[in-house]
Amino acid sequence: MSHLIHRNLRATPPLAVEGKGIWLTAADGHRVMDASGGAAVACLGHGHPRVLEAMAAQMGKLTYAHTALFGCESAEALADTLVGHRPGGLSFAYFVSSGSEGMEAAIKLARQHFLEKGQPQRTRYIARRQSYHGNTLGALSAGGNAMRRAPYAPLLTDAFSHVSPCYAYRDRQDGETDAEMVARLAAELEAEFQRLGPQNVIAFCAETVVGATLGCATALPGYFPAMRAVCDRHGALLILDEVMSGMGRTGTLHGWEQEGVTPDIQVIAKGLGGGYQPIGGILATEAVIAPIRDGSGSFMHGHTYQSHPVACAAALAVQQVIREEALIDNVAAMGRLLETRLTERLGNHHHVGDIRGRGLFWAIELVADRATKAVFDPARKLHARVAEEAYARGLGCYPMGGTIDGRQGDHVILAPPYNVTEQEIGMIVERFGDAVEAAL
Ligand code: PLP
Repeated sequence: MSHLIHRNLRATPPLAVEGKGIWLTAADGHRVMDASGGAAVACLGHGHPRVLEAMAAQMGKLTYAHTALFGCESAEALADTLVGHRPGGLSFAYFVSSGSEGMEAAIKLARQHFLEKGQPQRTRYIARRQSYHGNTLGALSAGGNAMRRAPYAPLLTDAFSHVSPCYAYRDRQDGETDAEMVARLAAELEAEFQRLGPQNVIAFCAETVVGATLGCATALPGYFPAMRAVCDRHGALLILDEVMSGMGRTGTLHGWEQEGVTPDIQVIAKGLGGGYQPIGGILATEAVIAPIRDGSGSFMHGHTYQSHPVACAAALAVQQVIREEALIDNVAAMGRLLETRLTERLGNHHHVGDIRGRGLFWAIELVADRATKAVFDPARKLHARVAEEAYARGLGCYPMGGTIDGRQGDHVILAPPYNVTEQEIGMIVERFGDAVEAAL
C-alpha cells in the first residue's frame, strides 16, 4: 500500500522511473511518448543535458540563500533574460515555485499597487467563468472552474466575480459575427465594472489561451484589445495568466504577442522551467511597480523559496536552449503540422466536436453528437477513457472534462515538447486517433 496521497485515493498510478527526450518509462518497462508534457510543462522533453549541467553547476556553487539577506546570480540573470529588453513594457520579474503562487503574487501586487497609489477602495477583481488560475485559495477564487471550486466554496473570497469567457465554439449566438461576439463580451465586462462601481475594480484576469478548463480555447480576433479598452477606461489593470499558454507554447514567447495587447502583470510557470524545477513567477511593468517602490518600498508578500537559485538556474538554461535552438520557430511549424494531421485523422469524426488550439497547444473536444454539440454523460468519463487507451498504446495526453461545468464536452490536450520532430508528430496522431476510436 502506498503512503502517498495520490490524486486518486483508490488507485496507485504506475511509477515513472526514467525520462529521456519525449519518452517516459514506467517501472514495468512500458514506454510512453509524453505528448502533453504533463499539463503542458515539459517544453524541452525530459533529461535535456544542458539543463542538467546548469543545475549541477548551480548546486555545486550555491543551493540556497534567503532573499532577506542575499540576491543570487541565477535569479538576476533569469530576470534580465525575461524582461531586460522590456517586452511590452514588462520590466520586472518575481519568481516563486508554482503557477498558483504566481497568481497569488499577481493578485496581491495589483492590490498593493492601488493601495500605494491612494486608491484603497479598489478591492474587486473580475475574472471569467470556465477558467483556471490555480488551486491555492486566492487563485481558486479567481478561477471559474465550477468542479474545482465546489468543495471549497465557503473558503473562497468574493473579491472575484466572473464574466463569460470567449468560447466561440459553444457561446456564439445565432448569426453572430466575430466582431459582434467580441462587442457583446466587452459590453458584459463593462456592465460588470458598472455593477461593482468602476472605481472599485483592481483588475480583469484572464488566461490568454484558456488551458485546462475549456481546452486550448483561443480568443476571437479583437477580443483582448476590447477587454483592455474597458480596463483602461476605468483605470484597472489587465492580468494575463500565461501559466499554461505562455513561454513559447503557442508559437510566440508570450501568448499576448498574438493578441495585440500587453498585460500590466503576467503570470508564468510551466514552460518557464519545463518541469526541471518547480518555478513560476510574474512579470510586471514599471507603472505597476513604481508606486510601491516610491511608497512603502516593499512588496508585502514573500516566500521562503522565492528566487530559488537552482530553480532559477534551471529555468535560465531552459530559456537559453529555447533561444539558441530557435525552438519557438519549431513550435509554430510543428504546431501547423499537428493541426493538419489531427484534422485529417479526426476532423470528420462524429464524436469530435472541435479541434482547437495554437502552436503546440491543442485540444480535441469530444461530443455525443457533432451536429447538436450535445455532451456525453459525464459519468462515462470519456476523457479519462481516451487517456487510458492512449497510455496502453504508449502515449501520454492530458484529459479533462465533462463534469467541469456541465456544459462543455470532454476534452483531451496534446502539448508536445518544443523540440518535437515531424516523425514524432506522426506517431502522436496515429496513437491518439487509435485511442479515441477505441474509447468511443
Ligand atoms: N494558471 C493556469 C492557467 C494553469 O493552467 C495552472 C495549472 O494548470 C495554474 C495557474 C496553476 O499552476 P500550478 O499547478 O503550478 O500551481
